[in-house]
Amino acid sequence: MGRFDAPDVSYVTGFGVEAWRERLVVDGFAAYRADQVLSWVYGKRVSSYAEMTNIPRAERDVLAVRYPLPVLEERAKLCSRDGTVKWLLGLSDGHAIETVLMRHRYGCSVCVTTQVGCRIGCTFCASTIGGLQRNLGAGEIVAQVLHVQRMLDETKERVSSIVVMGSGEPFENFDALVTFLSIMTHADGMAIGARHITVSTSGIVPRMIDFARLRSQVTLALSLHAPDDALRTQLMPINRAYPLADVMDAAKYYIAHTGRRLTIEYALMRDVNDRVAHAEALAQLLKGMLVHVNLIPVNTVRERAYERTPVADVQAFVAVLRRRGINTTVRREQGHDIAAACGQLRASVLASGAVRDAVAE
Ligand code: SAH
Repeated sequence: MGRFDAPDVSYVTGFGVEAWRERLVVDGFAAYRADQVLSWVYGKRVSSYAEMTNIPRAERDVLAVRYPLPVLEERAKLCSRDGTVKWLLGLSDGHAIETVLMRHRYGCSVCVTTQVGCRIGCTFCASTIGGLQRNLGAGEIVAQVLHVQRMLDETKERVSSIVVMGSGEPFENFDALVTFLSIMTHADGMAIGARHITVSTSGIVPRMIDFARLRSQVTLALSLHAPDDALRTQLMPINRAYPLADVMDAAKYYIAHTGRRLTIEYALMRDVNDRVAHAEALAQLLKGMLVHVNLIPVNTVRERAYERTPVADVQAFVAVLRRRGINTTVRREQGHDIAAACGQLRASVLASGAVRDAVAE
């Protein structure tokens, strides 16, 4: 087992739908058992095998031991006035991760975490402060969506989109990510349209190529944050391993190979990357590419020094990009009152050593 591997637990939610069907047949179960379980897990969102009443008790007992349903322990739950909810969820080995629900006019979106901590080291991000602890298994990533959906079931709401933008670098946990995406999109899984799912990467070039080759309809977002190597390396040390030219080549490969528009994420940091000259350089870099720029007002993290760009400067930045024909939006913010940005809750809990302090209900 590798140093960062997820614990070796065969959660039922860690199997792609087809793999699950094959596994149960190999195990000697009747072929329809697999579909019964899928329907209980993803259709009815039960949280135990005991509730799967059309499966004989003896078989349920075997399945519960071999393929447990993941249990996420609700260690903290913060509810924002705008409907955003943020959880700190405990895993079976005691680690804790963050999951966020955002309510939009068009539906409910869940932000999932793919790793406990992160080793990418972006200087503005809270998730990476304690380094990487371990990867999540696909079953643990799926469990986050189920956890949120169970709460939404009480008000007859539905998770309609997913952003893989929680803590961690999804492309450093590629196999689990791909299994997770297949379960989310499968008709017998969560049945969420691939176009309603976005995966964000810091620019792990070889995996961007792999992802393009999957020809998935899932949207790819690239965290760029700077238009040149010197500044990008300062903000994102991963740029040393995968410099801008290579990242842009991979981005172009992705667009050409999938025909899909790439999202470019750019967090505006006062006087760091938000000057008109940066906007001009960014426009130049993205010229002629099928992209959408999403500008994010940086979330100020206690441990980090970056400040937000004043509104007038955000508008000036947007104006430059639009004038140069680049499709640009500014991300609407939610959950500001509950520190819903990447890694903020977990970091504050780790720092204070007390979970209770973080609970503001
Ligand atoms: N590791 C992936 C996905 C996780 S973060 C990635 O880097 O893309 C999702 C987005 O939030 C990324 O664009 C990330 O750079 C950005 N982000 C991280 N910390 C932020 C902060 N303090 N303010 C604004 N955006 C932030």
